[in-house]
Amino acid sequence: MKFFSGQKNNTPKKRLSAEVATKASSRDLSSVLSHMNVGFMVIDKTGCISEINTACMNFLNISNAALGCSYIEILGSHELNSLIRRVKNTNNLVEEINGPKSGGMTFLASLSLEENTQEILVLLTNSTRIHKLESMRRDFIANISHELRTPLSVIRANAESLLDGALKDHDTAKKFSSAILKNSEKLTYLLSDILNLATIESGEYSLDMRTVNPKKIIEKIVKDISENYTSAEIKIDVNDNLEVIIDEEAFRQVVTNLLDNAIKYSPNNERTNISIRSKNMGTKVKFEIEDRGIGIPPKSRERVFERFYRLKSEQFISTSGVGLGLAIVKNLVNLMGGSIGNESAHPNGTIFWFTLNLPSK
Ligand code: ADP
Repeated sequence: MKFFSGQKNNTPKKRLSAEVATKASSRDLSSVLSHMNVGFMVIDKTGCISEINTACMNFLNISNAALGCSYIEILGSHELNSLIRRVKNTNNLVEEINGPKSGGMTFLASLSLEENTQEILVLLTNSTRIHKLESMRRDFIANISHELRTPLSVIRANAESLLDGALKDHDTAKKFSSAILKNSEKLTYLLSDILNLATIESGEYSLDMRTVNPKKIIEKIVKDISENYTSAEIKIDVNDNLEVIIDEEAFRQVVTNLLDNAIKYSPNNERTNISIRSKNMGTKVKFEIEDRGIGIPPKSRERVFERFYRLKSEQFISTSGVGLGLAIVKNLVNLMGGSIGNESAHPNGTIFWFTLNLPSK
């Protein structure tokens, strides 16, 4: 393969030895690139694959039987085939392409044409992660815009109605004003959740990890919540002498959020029974918050921790919330060194659990 041959080789002997050297160095390069997880392939002027490294075969889901075969027959990617065709006219191309369907990967493909030999060098870098992050960022902005627009338009419509004359009717004015208040509160929560999440995800949330007795903190949270939700009965079953390593503020946020959800996603015309308990697991402690609410279907168990993911329950979709609470909770638990999940409760409802580290004895 002559792709990297720099100077012109005059005599046949010189040419041969230069080619042998170039072949060896391209093989070295190909193996170095494989170690760097960069796909490398050369297509000769007849359209056959003359060099391919392991990373490239893995990326494109082909075997080394591809060597010497026509790229059109071997490569299952229309996008890559079309780039190979197009590079003959432009000499250099860099584009993002999708890998084989089954893999769900994306690649940054850099192609260049060596004019003298008419060989095409293809380099593939795995861009799946960057691609995912980019689409998460786009979704995030789209979601935020949507979540901001809804309460803002309610506020605007109600304010306009008030100015248009509804102010004169005391009952109607009260109704419109309380809609404005409710939606501005929603905006405040949304913005504080977004800021919280952004601080945590940027790594700027600094934890003050200490050995603390969590029972007192839980009792205080339960007392505050019970004052607001008088129909909720929250039973605490946590060892009096338990000590865990936590950041108090983060722990408070986690428990408050999970208890809030346990109440929010329970039918509000009944007495809501919730329990919070702790289980010693050796080096960790497991906290469980169990409710008798609507439950979470198995396919959404993991998804509820994604930003903006909300279950489409007719009954609860108007419930205040934007789907950021559990994303924040998961980040905080992970930052404190624990894990989090949920499972079905019996006969109905959900158990949210999270673990935290116990101090070493
Ligand atoms: P929010 O409550 O603001 O919608 P969360 O991130 O706290 O956002 O929760 C995401 C979704 O997970 C909720 O919209 C709800 O559909 C579901 N969920 C959370 N907690 C519970 C629970 N205890 N029982 C049933 N569904 C829940």
